[in-house]
Amino acid sequence: MKLRSLTAAAVAALSSTAMAAPVLAPPAASLSADVQPYIHLPAGQLAIQHLRIIDGTGGAPIEDATLLIDGAKIGAILPAGSAIPAGYRMMDGTGETALPGLVGMHNHLYYLQRPNLDPTGRFEQPIIIPQMTFSAPRLYLANGVTTMRTTGSVETYTDLALKREIDAGHLVGPHIDVTGPYLEGAGAFFIQNHVISDPEDARKEVAFWADQGVNSFKAYMNISRAELGAAIKEAHKHGLKLTGHLCSVTYPEAVALGIDNLEHGFFVNTQLDPGKQPDKCSDGTGTPTLLKMTPGSPEANALIKLLVDHHVAVTSTLPVFAQSVPLHEPLQPRQMDVMTPQAKEAYLFSRNLTASRAGTQRAKDFDQAYKNDLGLERQFVASGGLLIAGPDPTGNGGTIPGFADQRELELLVEAGFSPVEAIKIGTLNGATYLGLADRIGTIAAGKNADLFIVKGNPAANINDVENVIVVFKDGVGYDSAKLLQSVKGRFGQY
Ligand SMILES: [Zn+2]
Repeated sequence: MKLRSLTAAAVAALSSTAMAAPVLAPPAASLSADVQPYIHLPAGQLAIQHLRIIDGTGGAPIEDATLLIDGAKIGAILPAGSAIPAGYRMMDGTGETALPGLVGMHNHLYYLQRPNLDPTGRFEQPIIIPQMTFSAPRLYLANGVTTMRTTGSVETYTDLALKREIDAGHLVGPHIDVTGPYLEGAGAFFIQNHVISDPEDARKEVAFWADQGVNSFKAYMNISRAELGAAIKEAHKHGLKLTGHLCSVTYPEAVALGIDNLEHGFFVNTQLDPGKQPDKCSDGTGTPTLLKMTPGSPEANALIKLLVDHHVAVTSTLPVFAQSVPLHEPLQPRQMDVMTPQAKEAYLFSRNLTASRAGTQRAKDFDQAYKNDLGLERQFVASGGLLIAGPDPTGNGGTIPGFADQRELELLVEAGFSPVEAIKIGTLNGATYLGLADRIGTIAAGKNADLFIVKGNPAANINDVENVIVVFKDGVGYDSAKLLQSVKGRFGQY
């Protein structure tokens, strides 16, 4: 960055505020030679005619519309037959549908490596988390994700730098909400974690990373109530939100401490787990609670009322859990194509192991827990709760960035949501949580031109969200196929 002379007031403003860059940076002034090859349509005045628009509000699709894109903004949605103002480049969207860019709310930028994994599931310690700083942003953008939250980081400085480079137009990728390092006590399952020692240590870690410019925080499975409380208080002091993948702290305890968001639907609430000790993760990590908490039961009703009353959002992460259902749908060839041979092998070992458990009590229990979660997610939404969505790459290796964001929408439809409701959960609801619903999350005049166009009609067949043609971010249309081609065989490597 070239330094220009700044007024004294500007210098004071720069030094008095933290370094935090907003989730939605202003559009880059120019896009670098590294970004150019992936641009299908440069920003300009576009009129896409005969287009179906699913606007993200949950309403019925708008048929045969004309979508005007004016630079970085959406200009207008015109009804069929309207005159097109002069100066627009005309395009034909017959047979195609526009959707708001997905707002991925549990979307990591890494791969989970189990060293020397063998077909029996054995591996050596330590579990290592390599960064996917090259491939993950491309996979997200190629698949329609225009804004994402990292929801726990490992190389936080790398993620912050990646965001800066994307925002500056030097690298290709979505808008990023960088989450700080996992706030975790002793017992983390991967090695690259600071271990929080006490509440003051939790407060200091949050204060430090807030000053480094992260946008959000995430607590993890082995944090104490006192540490979580201190972290939430400090995050809020900096105007930042905190979510949690919890275990040692139950959902009601976290709500009482003021948490903003809970990850993994209702899978990791330990409040009814047998042998649960205060501040300690239980052996069941929430599955026993979920088995007892059938939708509509008094326990479920009380928990959902508590969450809704305290405005705590819940993140649905169905793709990563579907991987644990024996004989779940296998990864598609287009997904296998972006993985390294080793990542494919690890995924297949894991898939075979899960399949070999079909019919066992463990598999039946998990199947029931999964069904209960779907019912609870529906009940939460019906009760006025804010359900947001993200797939949680990579889990057992079968949750692939971007592709799995589309899968999340499909699984929400399998759960009983209508396709347009599922799309709203994956777009507007995430934007609402981020406080950005006035700029992204729906297709409407004046909003940012963050949207994607698919072949087909996802309102009738949700799987059509997979048929991405072009993804607009700040009015620039990116070529989905070229982005995917550029990471062929790379996911798992870098
Ligand atoms: Zn996660």
